[in-house]
Amino acid sequence: MTVAESTPAHAPAHVPPLAARVRSVEGSPVRDILAVTARPEVINFAGGLPAPELFDTEGIAAAYQAVLTGAPAQALQYATTEGEPVLRAALAARTSARGLPTGPDDLLVTTGSQQALSLLATALVEPGDTVLVENPCYLAALQAFGLAGARVLAVPGDADGVDPVALDDLVVRERPQLLYTVPTFQNPTGRTLPADRRAAVAAVAARRGLWIIEDDPYGELRFEGERVPWIASLDDARDRTVLLGSFSKVMAPGLRLGWLRAPRELRRACAVAKQAADLHTPTVNQLAAARYLADNDLDGHVARVATAYRSRRDAILAGLPAALPDGSVWNRPEGGMFLWARLPDGHDTTALLPQVVRHDVAYVPGAPFYAGVPDRATLRLCFVTQTPEEIGEGLRRLGEGLAPGPTRSATPAG
Ligand code: PMP
Repeated sequence: MTVAESTPAHAPAHVPPLAARVRSVEGSPVRDILAVTARPEVINFAGGLPAPELFDTEGIAAAYQAVLTGAPAQALQYATTEGEPVLRAALAARTSARGLPTGPDDLLVTTGSQQALSLLATALVEPGDTVLVENPCYLAALQAFGLAGARVLAVPGDADGVDPVALDDLVVRERPQLLYTVPTFQNPTGRTLPADRRAAVAAVAARRGLWIIEDDPYGELRFEGERVPWIASLDDARDRTVLLGSFSKVMAPGLRLGWLRAPRELRRACAVAKQAADLHTPTVNQLAAARYLADNDLDGHVARVATAYRSRRDAILAGLPAALPDGSVWNRPEGGMFLWARLPDGHDTTALLPQVVRHDVAYVPGAPFYAGVPDRATLRLCFVTQTPEEIGEGLRRLGEGLAPGPTRSATPAG
């Protein structure tokens, strides 16, 4: 017997535990569902994945090629944390053209808009601070604020989004740091906050003292109706709203390119947090995106994508009545990627998911999107990843998966 085997005194001590903040925040249930549904035969309404066949692969490849042959030393080199000036200039012009005057120095390029959420949580949230979110809310925002140690509270709302009166009450009572909102084609519901409510939300922020994080990855994907102005563009909210943008849904998510527009002090704090996170967003991706914007008509591309997504939205709306149990309700988003449905009382979409996945189709149960008490009868459907034909087949399978199974029908009536 060797010394190492015989002497417990030399057994390794336990390593110290993980930080409390990571022990208290769950992994994303959407990622878990994606793992289960990775089988190619599964029709996936769960993922939130833009349609890959609509990526402008040729245009993006040409942009990378141009950058790597034209300016390889710059494209492959370290760069500033704030982001490539040529990209920030193009983003500033696009933002200004949409009604919010913006200069390149108002922007910080981020590694996806998801990183902006982490940076803002670091810059704005002390452990124990209160953060207000929508009900239901984008999942990975709940994670970002949870990891920062926030106390996350949901603002009551309805089919149009947050209720400004309830928001005002909560702000007075709970003294929150910030409100996080996705006012246009929200994830998970697809709903859009009307202009008058945006004005009322901005007024609450001005009157009571509140940061607003306005996350807008989907706004450009409008199929119908009028564009609603950003909260960030309203006079009341200008000095206290951070606007987040992303190329994920209009160009491709694999580029990991997002940006934030924030007042100077906050933007600088985010830049310091970003230095600690990743120094800067990949130079080659930033330059390729700027090249793409210079050589292509992104708005034309987005219009083509929106047209395709519109017919997919219409396909899911046409098939839902036959797929969901009688008494179910759902909305009709004017853009974006998601639709929100509610099955009749008594249904639990988390419990139903395994039997649905056995029919090779998947959705995301609504419960994890709620910061407060969940409505377990709800579910999110992403309608853009599949063609209208596949959506029809997916809904047929969903109908089968949700139909009362042998256990239920064997239960004696009454
Ligand atoms: N915000 C919202 C509301 C989202 O739905 C997503 C992506 N699903 C993100 C932010 C993150 O997007 P990305 O990091 O790819 O820009």
